[in-house]
Amino acid sequence: MFDGSADSPELREACGICGGVSLNPQMPYLTCFALYALQHRGQESAGIAVSGGEGQEIWLKRGMGLVSEVFPDTGELKQRRGKLAMGHVRYSHGEEGHHPENAQPLLFKYRHGQIAVAHNGLLLNGEQLRDELGKEGAIFQTNTDSELLAHLVARQGSADLEEALAAVVPRLEGAFAFVLTDGKRVFGLRDRHGFRPLSLAALRESGYFLASETCAFDTIRARFLRDVEPGELVMLGEDGIKSRQIMAAEKLSLCIFEFIYFARPDSNIHGINVHLARRELGRRLAREHPAEADIVSGVPDSSIAAASGYAEEAGLPYEMSLVKNRYIGRTFIQPTQQMREEGVDLKLNAVQKIVEGKRVVIVDDSIVRGTTSLKLVRMMRRAGAREVHLRISSPPVIASCRYGIDTPTAEELISAGRSNQEVVRRIGADSIGFLSPAGMLGAVGLPEDHLCQACFSGCYP
Ligand code: 5GP
Ligand code: MG
Repeated sequence: MFDGSADSPELREACGICGGVSLNPQMPYLTCFALYALQHRGQESAGIAVSGGEGQEIWLKRGMGLVSEVFPDTGELKQRRGKLAMGHVRYSHGEEGHHPENAQPLLFKYRHGQIAVAHNGLLLNGEQLRDELGKEGAIFQTNTDSELLAHLVARQGSADLEEALAAVVPRLEGAFAFVLTDGKRVFGLRDRHGFRPLSLAALRESGYFLASETCAFDTIRARFLRDVEPGELVMLGEDGIKSRQIMAAEKLSLCIFEFIYFARPDSNIHGINVHLARRELGRRLAREHPAEADIVSGVPDSSIAAASGYAEEAGLPYEMSLVKNRYIGRTFIQPTQQMREEGVDLKLNAVQKIVEGKRVVIVDDSIVRGTTSLKLVRMMRRAGAREVHLRISSPPVIASCRYGIDTPTAEELISAGRSNQEVVRRIGADSIGFLSPAGMLGAVGLPEDHLCQACFSGCYP
């Protein structure tokens, strides 16, 4: 379990996964496009596994960096013909995550052939399973949960991957979505609570495709069919889709941070569009925490939608006070605090002519450690802002995530054990306002008991 201790060996991941089957042998190329669309979910490593079909060896390429760095030549993928492919982009935190051997998909050979595995999430009982397998003599080459699942599958003994998964996946606890292939079919599955998203689409000509977010379907012009259900195993083959409930589904507990921060605005999760949800978060934030101000600005990119909703509701002009350098990744990725701080400086600049002499509302989607807000307020003041009012389109993050999102230990969370007055003093803004939990739930629109909000409440499903 992620307890935040420095020596905790697990990766804490919220990655992007995808994969599909088609009669058209361009799957490697399509999968690469889908990974481009999922790039915001992880910038640390990328990989694609391809199979030409039954009896063919699985080809794998994975490496550190962005999709464009690992696959600089899409021509290579165009030439690599295959009817089955799957891909992964990785987001990990902490220095132990920065190891090339953990790049996925992982490819294994066992007595019944090959399997490639990629996942998004975190197993709560990963350490315990690793211990058990280790005592039986298992050798590990990575510290990923994907490798654990491969070991369990190999030991289960069945030659049919469907049967093996149905037997072993119920042993996994935690938040996870997996995509796997044995070279004959592509498999997708979600944990029994559906913490991590996974959706299914039909490809234009023939075939099916799974992805963490629906924005990947738009990129490859696939037609969204439905979300994979909690506890469901979906199997894509040349003969169509098969589905099997391999674990009794618990109530859906989708991670609310997908709506707040993670997902791309053009994605829909369980029928809810992320951009519209964020705009509504901003509207409600304006009602709950109005400000005497001249202009409203968002922190690009994740809070633009909320800031536009705030401005609209408040009747204030939306202005671009901050410009983001597009060529720098998400700052959380940086393992040390100093690197994170430098990251913010590199990433954002204030537009002096816009903020000079103004009372500015800055809307951000969340405050975690407070690094970003502190820098933003200083930046605004340096640029001549008369007042800086911070408005946050989610409640204070007070608990570290057990399920793999990079919210650090409670000591590092600026709002844990601190009043908003103390937080605003540390950050140096003129005022602060966080959206209430009720406002957040109302804006997202899914039933309250279908969302995991443990980072805001400390109550884990
Ligand atoms: P802080 O700087 O307070 O530690 O984090 C808040 C900022 O990081 C916000 O601007 C938000 O957009 C972003 N953020 C919030 N949660 C996450 C996360 O889990 N991962 C990454 N990369 N960024 C996050
Ligand atoms: Mg941000």
